[in-house]
Amino acid sequence: MGTWRGPADRWPEHSKQWFQDALAEARSAGWHFLDFSSHSFGLVACRVDLEDRCEFPIFSTGRAGEDAAQTLQKMVRRCPHRAPEAKPFGAAAHLGRAEDSLKKGQRLASAAEVCLAAQDASNHAQELLEQAMEVVEHAQRNFDEALEEERAASELLKTVDPDLAAMPTVAVVEGAAEHHRDATRSLRRVTKESPRKRAVGKALGELRAQIEALQRADL
Ligand SMILES: [Zn+2]
Repeated sequence: MGTWRGPADRWPEHSKQWFQDALAEARSAGWHFLDFSSHSFGLVACRVDLEDRCEFPIFSTGRAGEDAAQTLQKMVRRCPHRAPEAKPFGAAAHLGRAEDSLKKGQRLASAAEVCLAAQDASNHAQELLEQAMEVVEHAQRNFDEALEEERAASELLKTVDPDLAAMPTVAVVEGAAEHHRDATRSLRRVTKESPRKRAVGKALGELRAQIEALQRADL
């Protein structure tokens, strides 16, 4: 029996290319190599610390050949015993893993960007929708209020003489002012004091205030 060589140690070179390839793959996967003194080239095993491990004897020449090398490659790829701390060995293996990880990372980052953009768009759409709803509700309230005012206005106008209602309001106020002036002039000619004269004078004062309020209003 020889000694175990680890994946970082030098392994003897097999004479057949297919075994060189299979052994290189086993070594990259962290397998170990055991020299045999005679008959065999050696034994490879996935772990030296497990009894129930994958192992494969390799002969120097003759028996088995390419098929055996392929069987070893399959065994290496299917091995369920890789130690958690076992790392792939060799620059090519590290580079391969780096590329794999890079691709996975790029895929995730792109997906995250798409998700983020979709989320932003969705949030913005929600905001716009809420604003639109507010505008619509506001418009609806204004519309209802306008209808209400319109109904109130037409109810009020029914109480007014149709001829006056048809005139511009400024002219109606001017008419009221003229009548007020006429009434004031007429009342001045009444010399005798009486409750009736006082009542008319008081009413004229109230009418004066009413007309002035109307003239200040935006007609
Ligand atoms: Zn194994």
